[in-house]
Amino acid sequence: MEEKGRKIMVTRSSMPELQEYMDEIKDIWESRHLTNMGPKHQRLEEELALYLGVPCVSLFSSGHSALEFLISALGLKGEVITTPFTFVSTVHAIVRNGLQPVFCDVDPESYTMDPDKLEKLITKRTSAILPVHVYGSICDLERMDDIATRHNLRLIYDAAHAFGVRVKGKGIGSFGHASIFSFHATKVFHTIEGGAVTTSDRSLKEKLFCLRDFGISGPGAIDYVGGNGKMNEFQAAMGLCNLRHIDGEMEKRRKSVMKYRHHLSGIPGVQLLKEQPGVETNYAYFPVLIHKEIFGKSRDEVCDSLMSADIFPRKYFCPLVSDLGCYQGKFDSRNTPIARGIAERVLCLPLYAGLEEEDVDRICRIILNGKE
Ligand SMILES: *Cc1c(COP(=O)(O)O)cnc(C)c1O
Repeated sequence: MEEKGRKIMVTRSSMPELQEYMDEIKDIWESRHLTNMGPKHQRLEEELALYLGVPCVSLFSSGHSALEFLISALGLKGEVITTPFTFVSTVHAIVRNGLQPVFCDVDPESYTMDPDKLEKLITKRTSAILPVHVYGSICDLERMDDIATRHNLRLIYDAAHAFGVRVKGKGIGSFGHASIFSFHATKVFHTIEGGAVTTSDRSLKEKLFCLRDFGISGPGAIDYVGGNGKMNEFQAAMGLCNLRHIDGEMEKRRKSVMKYRHHLSGIPGVQLLKEQPGVETNYAYFPVLIHKEIFGKSRDEVCDSLMSADIFPRKYFCPLVSDLGCYQGKFDSRNTPIARGIAERVLCLPLYAGLEEEDVDRICRIILNGKE
């Protein structure tokens, strides 16, 4: 194990034993079926549908391509309302489809799109709402659904952070018209690079099937202007291996989260995500908000003291997407003050399946005392 001077990064990819992966890819060598929806791909779609509790899964080469293809499949027009407090991919996918993103502020406790602020952003040009279950913190599903239905809008979720989350027993990917997941190496469940759309709309699944493969709908028939968003057999094989271990990996993450909560809950000026009733979470991230006026130290000071101890938390998602270079001047983040306040205070602490209990103790000591 090479852990360069034992640096603790914000995350570390889960991996199966090398032998398990070698066993899984053996038949790819024999069949030479390397990509184009081969048997591993087929099996992974089926196993994921069961695991996620959703009717249809369409695999993609990444979470981002899943979202870009989903938006294009739905033929959206005009404006799409989303949140600035997300990974830039969410907004890029809207813009790269020729649509205009409109930023809705977030709720100060769940950090997800605030339904109270959503309705007044809806115009004649709005075609869809794209909320994000950021950190696996779940949006107000009922109110989102109600607003989308009343205004006849498409409701699609960016569930990149919410793999395996269940709400009152239902898979998170079964809400709204469709959801996307990311299976990037840094996510809770991964296929190295990869992603998926989940939906109960079978005609949407069929359209995505063609779109991600250049629009090919049958031998010699190309009915759509598609692209290439296919997941290959090696990625699917990694997914099949990782899926066997996902429950154990999440359980290890749960233990770290309990330890973090033990040390940090009730500390004035350190805001933790509230547990959401009825939600079985996936322990994907452990974000804390540092309120300097109460805690005494700023988020950046806390971050620096951790980094000088070779611990590397991340300021996800700071700056807000609307403040990033490519969007600067086009939006005013003062219109989303809650999101801005969270971006200024947030720090995602290291969290992954192999994180040691003593490391969590040490990280919390440094946060609280400024040193080890
Ligand atoms: C990771 C992520 C994506 C993109 O997924 P990739 O698999 O990296 O393409 C989209 N949205 C959010 C919120 C993400 O965190």
